[in-house]
Amino acid sequence: MAVQLKPELKQLIVDTGVEMVRTGMTVGTWGNLSVRDPETGLMYISPSGMDYLIIQPRHVVVLTLDLETVDGEAEPSIERHMHAAVYRQRPGVNAVVHTHPVFSSAFGAARLELPAVSEDFAQIVGDKVICALPYQLPGTEALARVAAAALGERFAVLLPNHGALAVGESMKKALKVAMVLEKNAQIYLYARLLGAPQPLGDGEILAMQKFAREEYGRRNRDLA
Ligand SMILES: [Zn+2]
Repeated sequence: MAVQLKPELKQLIVDTGVEMVRTGMTVGTWGNLSVRDPETGLMYISPSGMDYLIIQPRHVVVLTLDLETVDGEAEPSIERHMHAAVYRQRPGVNAVVHTHPVFSSAFGAARLELPAVSEDFAQIVGDKVICALPYQLPGTEALARVAAAALGERFAVLLPNHGALAVGESMKKALKVAMVLEKNAQIYLYARLLGAPQPLGDGEILAMQKFAREEYGRRNRDLA
């Protein structure tokens, strides 16, 4: 029986790639992104080494989580091992965004954890993000293993001397996590220049996550 492919998921990869460049989350052809179709379990991933502004839906590659090609003529992203490792580990995650942003990468280069110092980070990313160590070369299965292990049940992880990985139940959420991670890294660094950054407490983080989940914008959701 032929697998049903979803053109809208290919378009989502194309559109989000453009958004990644537009928001400064990556430059050139670096970074990559994927979405999982929860119905078929297939992964739709960006092609390797192509400029985001010229990628068309036909360049998006559809793979099984064992990395067998189901559809697409292009070479899939070299980080396909990392994307598949995340989906295998996290059933609730349906989108993975790998970026090369400046401020998040600074923490990875210094091998530092990044704690929550802004409310939006606490709400959608968690208490902190950590580095995937030891360093592994890009595109390797070893990188996939250390990245998935360091991600754990969090929504982002730092890849030292390389970039960041953000995940979410939807593509919209994963991209938001990537952007909020970068903002939190920038704020931490500026706060460090001014004085000692004060991380949010565990109780405050839990309260904000509950508020984000249950209350924030709830009454306006029906209007959208
Ligand atoms: Zn990369």
